[in-house]
Amino acid sequence: VNTRLPRVGTTIFTVMSQLALDHDAVNLGQGFPDFEVPDFLVEACDRAMREGRNQYAPMTGMPALRQAIAAKSEAMYGRRVNPDTEVTVTSGASEAIFDTVLALVHPGDEVIVLDPAYDSYEPAIALAGARAVHVPLDPTSFAVDWQRLADAIGPKTRMLMVNTPHNPSGAMLAAADLDRLAGLLRDTPIVLLSDEVYEHIVFDDNRHESALRHPELADRAVVVSSFGKTYHCTGWKVGYAIAPPPLSAELRKVHQYNTFCTPAPTQLAFAEAITQHPQHHLGLGAFYQDKRDAFRAQLARTKFRPLPVPGGYFQLCDYSAISDLPDAEFCRWLTVEHGVTGIPLSPFYEEPPAGQRLIRFCFAKAPATLERAVERLALIG
Ligand code: PMP
Ligand code: GLN
Repeated sequence: VNTRLPRVGTTIFTVMSQLALDHDAVNLGQGFPDFEVPDFLVEACDRAMREGRNQYAPMTGMPALRQAIAAKSEAMYGRRVNPDTEVTVTSGASEAIFDTVLALVHPGDEVIVLDPAYDSYEPAIALAGARAVHVPLDPTSFAVDWQRLADAIGPKTRMLMVNTPHNPSGAMLAAADLDRLAGLLRDTPIVLLSDEVYEHIVFDDNRHESALRHPELADRAVVVSSFGKTYHCTGWKVGYAIAPPPLSAELRKVHQYNTFCTPAPTQLAFAEAITQHPQHHLGLGAFYQDKRDAFRAQLARTKFRPLPVPGGYFQLCDYSAISDLPDAEFCRWLTVEHGVTGIPLSPFYEEPPAGQRLIRFCFAKAPATLERAVERLALIG
């Protein structure tokens, strides 16, 4: 087969989930909650299906949902967005990212990604015929190296992708970072793709700095989010893109022939959830902060050294006190020999930092799941 993606294999999330199944391991690898979605969401979706809302949704998304997204975004980030021309509902954030890249990036262009980067970015760029330019984040703080980023920008740069809160590290961009970003992009044609799928999962005194808060950035940004993360339903695959009308018009050209639309009853359920149950998304940070804190406290019984987690639902741990194995081998060993699955960081990099010994655990789990995992981890001498 004359492959278009010679460097792509099966995603690390699929590989590790299968390995966890094969070895009956506690799966803290692939990021998904193991607890149920809120009743109000199931009831709203069930009602929509029973009321016959089962045919194609409008291509850009159900009006009620686009309005709810626009109102929520304005309330949270202070940017007024037009639900008809600036909000597009997609089948997961993944589709929004693909649509955006395929619509706006030309063959021969360059797209800057910050490593470690979510694994779907590079294949989207490759399918657009463009080149991903990888700029490493600081290997311990996962902060942006502004000089390296500035150096990476050139005449071929069409797009820059950022992700805050960041998968896998949980690092977050601060308001000052958005200012620096705006300074770098000023007077360039570069589009910012801001992946904010963990926007509501932020801890301590942190505030999520959406690109939508920053008028100059928002004017050139496609902001992507996902209901999978916010409502514990990664299997529903509903997300959205917010972008100024000219950018939205382009990504819709791909969306309309990629999926055309996203399942109608789920959209109605999310519209109801956002407007009638705002306490859910507003309380998500506190909900996950309890999980983060409980998991970190328990990890003290192990030789894993947890790194700080400002946001998101992943805990990075340094395992160098346990093993000198490279991360992919270590993750396999941990699953097979100790029955706990995590995700190695190397697949998130073009070039992983030499000697990095980090594993990602997902703490979007019921307390009993995290306890069972830590009991096993604590046995490792
Ligand atoms: N971006 C990031 C950073 C993610 O972690 C995920 C989910 N794993 C996605 C995008 C894709 O989200 P969705 O499942 O809604 O397609
Ligand atoms: N976003 C999820 C993660 O980082 C995985 C999604 C997937 O399996 N493709 O774990």
